[in-house]
Amino acid sequence: MSFPVSGCLWVVATPIGNRHDFSARAIDTLRQVALVAAEDTRHSRPLLRYYQIATPLIALHEHNEQEAVKTVLCRLQAGASVALICDAGTPLISDPGFRLLRAARTAGMRCAPVPGACAAIAALSVAGLPSDRFVFEGFLPPKSAARRARLRVLMREPRTLIFYESAHRLAESLRDMCDVLGRQRDVVLARELTKLFETVLSNSLEGLAAHIGSNPQQQRGEHVLVVAGCGDEVDAKLTEGKRVFVLLREALPPGKAARLAAAITGAPRRALYDA
Ligand code: SAM
Repeated sequence: MSFPVSGCLWVVATPIGNRHDFSARAIDTLRQVALVAAEDTRHSRPLLRYYQIATPLIALHEHNEQEAVKTVLCRLQAGASVALICDAGTPLISDPGFRLLRAARTAGMRCAPVPGACAAIAALSVAGLPSDRFVFEGFLPPKSAARRARLRVLMREPRTLIFYESAHRLAESLRDMCDVLGRQRDVVLARELTKLFETVLSNSLEGLAAHIGSNPQQQRGEHVLVVAGCGDEVDAKLTEGKRVFVLLREALPPGKAARLAAAITGAPRRALYDA
């Protein structure tokens, strides 16, 4: 679908770093709509100014979503076209907009994507891990107990896993992944994609955790973690680890039994202990 279409909600992707990753159609759409709903208007203004987009902006973020949805819906129903953007990348992908899209579609309004950058897909495209099937997990919970619980749910997932992670939680998340998913799992860290300090590192979870621990500058910026799914070999180790753990548990306290079962079978210790 292309312009002009009245009463349409355009979901427009913006760059995740390099300003030139902004499609001609995205720029055109943002110039022609009556209103742009942006996650953070202060953040988006410099990009829009750079591309000489003078369309009025309103804020739409998690704290004002209810009100902003009403405003946008009124404009759409009156026949205006509105674009939704987020700070970087594709709206709704770990970003606001879900309620607006639900409301617009429920009201029978047209909704059209203007696709472009998405950090998860950009990271997967260079990770060199199986990409035919994958699971996008967004951000893990900030607290370790909840994070480990989520990782346990994913422990046996055979598809490649994609996580977003903030700079200040990268090291602790990697530690939890080592414990729950197993130290030897392959992982790719995609950092600052499309920006000056872009880095793509392949390693085991253990190797990456050690590297990040000793290179604090690698913790700066924005990160995507692409983690290999649970292969048959890991799955077999877990099954065997649990069997050995149950036997040892008859004579030993849980911590010691888990440690020994992990050492004997190569299964992740934490996974055995938690089980
Ligand atoms: N909607 C965005 C998208 O389409 O990718 C994601 C928004 S989410 C709030 C922000 C997270 O995306 C960051 O914490 C980081 O994990 C990831 N991210 C965004 N830009 C990135 C970049 N240039 N390089 C690596 N990761 C990035």
